[in-house]
Amino acid sequence: MSDFLKLDLLGASIALKNKEISSVELTNAYINAIEKTSSLGAYLDVQADYALEMANRSDKKIQQGTAGPLEGIPIGVKDMFCTKNIKTTASSKILENFYPTYESTVTQNLWNDGAVMLGKLSCDEFAMGSSNETAAKGNVINPWSKTNPMSPGGSSGGSAAAVAARSALAATGTDTGGSIRQPAAFCGITGLKPTYGRCSRWGIVAFSSSLDQAGPLTRTVSDAALMLNSMAGYDVKDSTSANISMPDLMTYLDNSIKGKKIGIPKEYTQDGISQDIMKFYESSINWLKDSGAEIVPVSLPHTKYALPVYYIIAPAEASSNLARYDGVRYGARNEAATLDEMYELTRGNGFGDEVKRRIMIGTYVLSSGYYDAYYLKAQKVRRLIKEDFENVFKNVDYLLTPSTPTTAFELGQKQDPLTMYLNDIFTVPASLAGVPGISIPVGLDSSGLPVGVQLIANSFDEPGLINVARTLEKCADFNLIPDGAAK
Ligand code: GLN
Repeated sequence: MSDFLKLDLLGASIALKNKEISSVELTNAYINAIEKTSSLGAYLDVQADYALEMANRSDKKIQQGTAGPLEGIPIGVKDMFCTKNIKTTASSKILENFYPTYESTVTQNLWNDGAVMLGKLSCDEFAMGSSNETAAKGNVINPWSKTNPMSPGGSSGGSAAAVAARSALAATGTDTGGSIRQPAAFCGITGLKPTYGRCSRWGIVAFSSSLDQAGPLTRTVSDAALMLNSMAGYDVKDSTSANISMPDLMTYLDNSIKGKKIGIPKEYTQDGISQDIMKFYESSINWLKDSGAEIVPVSLPHTKYALPVYYIIAPAEASSNLARYDGVRYGARNEAATLDEMYELTRGNGFGDEVKRRIMIGTYVLSSGYYDAYYLKAQKVRRLIKEDFENVFKNVDYLLTPSTPTTAFELGQKQDPLTMYLNDIFTVPASLAGVPGISIPVGLDSSGLPVGVQLIANSFDEPGLINVARTLEKCADFNLIPDGAAK
């Protein structure tokens, strides 16, 4: 493997600031890596010339001593983030020729801090999915695949595959019900979903507005801290953006976790969870205990309702958000004799099956006869789920859970939507409660596939979350690189 690709984000930024390497050299190494790993299908669009231009500018800033915290660092962007004058499709046919005239706040924050954009990364269509298989442009392959091609997880499958395959130093993702944490677990990398409101949603293609949250996918916890430092921040353009400042996460990494209380929720260790995952989950509990934490059994009694609640609220909001794709305002349009026919043709041709399924479920649960029975009920149960977390965080500082019930599965293996939805069983509750969660890799299962565990913190305690995640990362010492990575 090229020496450039061996550096993680933190290592690369130190080497850049010490002028041991240049951003143009580093960016070229990543452009090569993207070419070498193109069969994985992680990138929808590679912006090599633009990246080199940005890298050049970064090198000048480093020379002049005006470098930002991410100066010269080449990253990939999930195709849910609008990028000015650069095609943004949300992996959907209906947006196949959409060139935004604006830049999302989160990506703008990254460019302001000096990051270099390599290109746009594949995801499930409108971020709806857990396997990246609903992407209009086809599958992404998990770089850990052995004989058969495996799913990288979803919906941020392209982001996770690219970071694991060393074709991006880090990537942005969005997480509505697990789309950062689950693919990170499947690809053996770190994925952080911040508190709802921590990162602005402005300029991110909307899926489910009360749940969507941007976050980083990275090789290490320190890299996640560096990325989130730049991505987060109050934004007047997003009315749900939180005006709560976040301290520099890097200063919390190496604090002791002695005396911290880690809750082990009993609802997260029931049926259907793989033996290998249980084994690493138990090791993780022990590692935290050996690091001085106190392990406390806890209960989040409404956990079993999280999936049904999520699969009412998320489609309801999606059906409303996706009403804007009408052939008039954005993207594709199919001409027809009447206006209604034009809508039907445009939306019928433009959306894939999973998106149509969500629009139908969402429209149904919001319809006047069923609103109280489904949508309103789901909102009430969501409140109970949120209260579970509020109650438990009166007694413990963090929660430790598995990230997923299984490791990566083969592409095409989960045909039925309900089986697919079960993937999110451990990630959805934190999304409904709006609290931050991180998945970190802790080992390989008996088939050689990565296992992730999830840490969850109280709202706005990203500093503490980073600290305990870093502690666990040191204990697990997972530093394996998949066979599918760029050499
Ligand atoms: N897999 C979940 C879904 O399909 C979560 C997706 C996400 O977090 N964007 O809705």
